[in-house]
Amino acid sequence: MNSDGGGSPTRPAVSDDQPVTDPAVCSLPNQADPVAFKQAMDLIRRRRKYFFATIILYMPLMWVANRISPTFRSMAITFSVWVVVLFITALYSALARCPRCGHYFHMNGMSLLYLRRCLHCQNHINAS
Ligand SMILES: [Zn+2]
Repeated sequence: MNSDGGGSPTRPAVSDDQPVTDPAVCSLPNQADPVAFKQAMDLIRRRRKYFFATIILYMPLMWVANRISPTFRSMAITFSVWVVVLFITALYSALARCPRCGHYFHMNGMSLLYLRRCLHCQNHINAS
């Protein structure tokens, strides 16, 4: 009966202090998760819609104002309100960020262009 209880085959896990790095989860740096990407694109599309709707509303708005009160004063007030609304919607859409590159979608430096693509990474407005 010479049982050497020496080398126990099951050693306690010593490798706990290793940093858990899962290479399968590692994604591209600019690849946001698709839900957030779609939400950001929806936000850009919605703000563009408000902006263009404001531009289109100019003619019917002035027509209605002229019908209600055809004085210079009321027309000037209507026009001022329209300009303020246009400025706000333009600002909102200009400050919408592209989810792919993180820059302003419609603004590159001092130029503000309402194209259908991102001015930095050519990300299309209908990308989702
Ligand atoms: Zn971009």
